[in-house]
Amino acid sequence: QKFVYDFTEGNKDLKDLLGGKGANLAEMTNLGLPVPPGFTITTEACKVYLASGSEPTALRDEVTAHLGALEARMGKKLGQADDPLLVSVRSGAKFSMPGMMDTVLNIGLSDESVTGLAAQAGDERFAWDSYRRLIQMFGKTVLGVDGELFEDALEEAKRAKGVTTDVDLDAADLRGLVEEFKGIVSKETGRDFPQEPREQMDLAIRAVFDSWNGERAKLYRRQERIPGDLGTAVNICSMVFGNLGPDSGTGVAFTRDPASGHQGVYGDYLQNAQGEDVVAGIRNTVPLADLERIDKASYDRLISIMETLETHYRDLCDIEFTIERGKLWMLQTRIGKRTAGAAFRIATQLVDQGLIDEAEALQRVTGGQLAQLMFPRFDEKAKTDLLGRGIAASPGAAVGKAVFDSYTAVKWSRSGEKVILIRRETNPDDLNGMIAAEGILTSRGGKTSHAAVVARGMGKTCVCGAEELEVDTKRRRMTAPGGVVIEEGDVVSIDGSTGKVYLGEVPVVPSPVVEYFEGRMHAGADDADELVQAVHRVMAYADRMRRLRVRANADNAEDASRARRFGAQGIGLCRTEHMFLGERREMVERLILADTDAERDEALGALLPLQKADFVELFEAMDGLPVTVRLLDPPLHEFLPDITELSVRVALAEAREDANENDLRLLQAVHKLHEQNPMLGLRGVRLGLVIPGLFAMQVRAIAEAAAERKNAKGDPRAEIMIPLVGTVQELEIVREEADQVIAEVEAATGTSLKLTIGTMIELPRAALTAGQIAEAAQFFSFGTNDLTQTVWGFSRDDVEASFFTAYLEKGIFGVSPFETIDRDGVGSLVRSAVEAGRATRPDLKLGVCGEHGGDPESVHFFHEVGLDYVSCSPFRIPVARLEAGRAAA
Ligand code: ADP
Ligand code: MG
Ligand code: MG
Repeated sequence: QKFVYDFTEGNKDLKDLLGGKGANLAEMTNLGLPVPPGFTITTEACKVYLASGSEPTALRDEVTAHLGALEARMGKKLGQADDPLLVSVRSGAKFSMPGMMDTVLNIGLSDESVTGLAAQAGDERFAWDSYRRLIQMFGKTVLGVDGELFEDALEEAKRAKGVTTDVDLDAADLRGLVEEFKGIVSKETGRDFPQEPREQMDLAIRAVFDSWNGERAKLYRRQERIPGDLGTAVNICSMVFGNLGPDSGTGVAFTRDPASGHQGVYGDYLQNAQGEDVVAGIRNTVPLADLERIDKASYDRLISIMETLETHYRDLCDIEFTIERGKLWMLQTRIGKRTAGAAFRIATQLVDQGLIDEAEALQRVTGGQLAQLMFPRFDEKAKTDLLGRGIAASPGAAVGKAVFDSYTAVKWSRSGEKVILIRRETNPDDLNGMIAAEGILTSRGGKTSHAAVVARGMGKTCVCGAEELEVDTKRRRMTAPGGVVIEEGDVVSIDGSTGKVYLGEVPVVPSPVVEYFEGRMHAGADDADELVQAVHRVMAYADRMRRLRVRANADNAEDASRARRFGAQGIGLCRTEHMFLGERREMVERLILADTDAERDEALGALLPLQKADFVELFEAMDGLPVTVRLLDPPLHEFLPDITELSVRVALAEAREDANENDLRLLQAVHKLHEQNPMLGLRGVRLGLVIPGLFAMQVRAIAEAAAERKNAKGDPRAEIMIPLVGTVQELEIVREEADQVIAEVEAATGTSLKLTIGTMIELPRAALTAGQIAEAAQFFSFGTNDLTQTVWGFSRDDVEASFFTAYLEKGIFGVSPFETIDRDGVGSLVRSAVEAGRATRPDLKLGVCGEHGGDPESVHFFHEVGLDYVSCSPFRIPVARLEAGRAAA
C-alpha cells in the first residue's frame, strides 16, 4: 500500500484517497498550471493513525523519499540554514470543511534558517514576519497553546509602536515578537519551540491527523452529514510568499458569482499578505477587479486560468492564489459552494454553454435547494426601517432577536426564541451559534469570509461585511449610522438576498418560485426573473427524465387543485377520517353509540351523502387522474371526547344531579374503546371488520360519487385502499363486501366504474406475506410511517422527543428514520414486498404514501426498487418531481 503521492501522480477523481484539496492540486499540476510542487499523504494513512494511535510504519520512509525528491527539485533542503526550503502542511478531507481543520505555513524556519531566508530574499522584515507566523500557527494548532496569547502580544506590539496593521511593524519589531512568541511557547508547553525542520514537519502532520477529531470538525460533520470515519489527507506543499512586499499578495476568487451565478470577476485580494489573512479579515481586502490595476500581468493570467478551470471542471470553481513578486501561483481549487438560486442558474447556463447536458444539469441541483427557494421572502411593499446594508452572502429572509455571542444564541434558541447572531466576524468557534440562529450578520469580511462560506453551506441566511454597522460584542450592542442602537434582544430582520438590515420585524411574502408553481407567474413573462426561468427549465429536464410518477396526499378539493398546479399526477392518499371531523363528529358519535342495527344504519345513512359530496368534488378536481381513497384508519376513540374531560364533566353533572343520558352513554363507550396502545389497537381494516356497514358505506359513497361524475361526462379514476392489513384473509372479506356494493351501484346507475381495490403495506406481516396479499390486491401503497414504527418498534409520536437526539448524537442514526427511509431495515422489507407482489400479480401498481414520498434521499430509493409513484404533501411535489428526475438521470 502506497501512503504518499506526488502532486504529479494524483488526479481529481482520487478525492477518497487524496482528499479534495490534494486531488485538485494534482489535477491542476497535471493541467500545467503553476502549482508549487509537493506531495500528499493519503487518508488511508490517517485512518491507520486514528485507529491505532500511531502512523503506519512505512509512512516515515515514504515521506523521506518524497521530501528528498522535492528537495532535489527545488535545489534546497528543508530548513537549510543558508537557503531554506519551506513547506506548508495542510489538511484536506474528501469533503471540504472550511476552516475546520489545521494548516501550518512556513515549516522549516528556525533561529538559524530565518537569517538564510532573509539573505536569500534580500528582505529581513519578510523573514521575521514568516517566522513569527510559523511560531504562532504551530504554537496554536500543533502545540495547543491558546491563540489569544499570540494575538494579544501582536496587538501590544502594534499599540506600543502606535500603528494599526501588521504591515507597519518592521524587521526589528517582528524579531522582538518572535522572541516573545518563543517565550509563550516555552512557558505554556514546558518545552522550546522545535528547531529541527523535520521534527516540525512530522509534528504538524500528526496535528493535521488529530484535527480530524477536533470538536469543531466533529460538529461540522454532524451538521453536514459527513461520515466520521473518512479521515483527512495531508498536503505538503512548498511555500510561495505573498508577504514579500507590495508586489506580492494573496487572494481568493470564484469563477462566477456564487450568489447569482453570473459570470464575472468575483473575489478578494490582499497585498503583502500570507494565507489566511484574506479570510480572517485581518486587514481590509480589495475587490479582485482592483488587481488589474495593481498587477495587470498576474491579473490577466489569473483570468485565463479561471477560464481553463471552468471549462475543465465544467462548473463554478473557487480558487486560492498567491502572487510572489509578480509571479502567480495556484494554491487550491475546488467546485465552489453556491446558493440554491445560483445552483439552478449555473446549471442552465452551463447547458446553454454546451458544457453539460440536461442529465448532468440535474445532478448540479438538489431537492433541498429547491425547497430553500420555496421559502418566503420579505415583502417589498412593507414599510421598513433600514439600519444599513452589507453584502448579500446567503439568501433568505430572517427575523429574530439580536444576540452578540454564540453562547446566548444557543441558549435563547433552546428556549424557543428566534435569534440573529451578530458578530464583527465569525470564526469556527461560532459554529454552534450559527446553527442555532435564524440568520447571521457580520460587520466585516466579504463573500469569502468564514461567515459567508459556512452560512451558504448550511443554507442559512447571512449578511456579512455590513461595515456601517458598528458591532460591540463586549457591550452586546450594535450602532447604526444615525446613532440608532440595537441592544441584545431587540428584533432585527436581515435579507440575505439584498444585504439589507432592518430594525424590527419585516413581514414576509411567498417566493417567486412558489408563485410560479402556483401558476401566478409564467416563466416566459417579461417580469419573470432569471431564477424562475432557471427553475422552470430544470423542472422540465426532470419531468422528461423521470420514471416515477408523483402524486399528492390530499383530502379535499382545494389541496387537490393546488397539488395539480404543482404537477401532481393524481392523489396517492386521501384520508377519509378528515371528512369525519367538525360538525360531522356528532354523527360519528351516534354511530359508535348505536345499540341497534336500525340506529347504526341511520347514523351511517346520515354520513353517506356527506362523504359522497366530498368525493364528487375531489374526483372533479383530479378528473382524469387516479385518486386513492383510504377507508377509515384511526381508532374510533379519536372521534370521541377526551376521557378525562368527559369523566370530569359527568362527575360534576352527577354532583348537581343533572347528568344527561347521552353523556353517560358516551362515557361508557369511551371507557370501552379506551386502549393502552391505540396505535396497535382497533383501527384500520380491523374497524371495518368489527363495525358492520362502516366500510360498505364508504365504498358506496365512493362508487356513487364516481357514477355521478361519469354521468356528468367526467373521468373519475378512484382506487379504494384498505389500511392496516396484516393478512390476506382480512382483505378478502372486505373485498367481497366492496365488490358487492360496487356492483349494486353500477347496476343502479347504469355505469361501469372500473374501481380498483388495493391495500396499504404498513405492517411487517403484510410485507412478509406480500405474495399472498397481492392475490386480493390490485395495488400496494407502502405506508412507510407505520411500517417504520412497527419495524423498529417505536412510536413516532413519543420517541422523536425522548431519545432520538441522543441516538443522532451517538451516530446510531445519521438522520431520523421517519425523515429518510431506513434502507437496510424498512427498505429491505419494501424491496422484497415489491418483488413478491409483482411475482403474484405482474401488473400490480406500486406506490408509497408516507412522509418519505417527499424526502429527496427516499425518492431515490423508491426509484431504485421500482415503484410506480411516490405520493407526498402538495408543497413537496416539486421537490419529489425534481428528485425523481435526478434519480433517473
Ligand atoms: P484551508 O483548508 O483552511 O483553506 P489551506 O491548507 O488551504 O487551509 O491553507 C490556508 C491558507 O494558507 C490558504 O490561504 C492557502 O492558500 C495558504 N497556503 C497554503 N499552503 C501554502 C503555500 N505552500 N504557500 C503559500 N500559501 C499557502
Ligand atoms: Mg484553503
Ligand atoms: Mg398508516
